[in-house]
Amino acid sequence: MPDTWVTDITHFLDEAGYIAAESGPAIRFAEYLVAIISLISHPEPVPVELSVSCRRKPHRKPCKGHIEGHIAPYTEDIVWWCPECGDSGFITNWQGTMWDLSEAGTIPH
Ligand SMILES: [Zn+2]
Repeated sequence: MPDTWVTDITHFLDEAGYIAAESGPAIRFAEYLVAIISLISHPEPVPVELSVSCRRKPHRKPCKGHIEGHIAPYTEDIVWWCPECGDSGFITNWQGTMWDLSEAGTIPH
């Protein structure tokens, strides 16, 4: 069964806004989430170098999917999913992080 990851990105960041997770796997997961933030927050057209490969390995084979998503209306959460394996999640509190590439994110708060 695919999982749905509901993540508040600020839980992975220190007060200066850098990734500050406890363990290697948590850091890699945080790096994956911030890559998704850049991908989804970037205005169209999104450069190919922001593309994010799925991190899952169903049946021990790396998933070939690339993450897709959008910003949810009203809540402004990032909603993401892998079209290949169905892994998916929500990211909250991403606005204003250093990976926020939206036009609003370029204006200092
Ligand atoms: Zn996948």
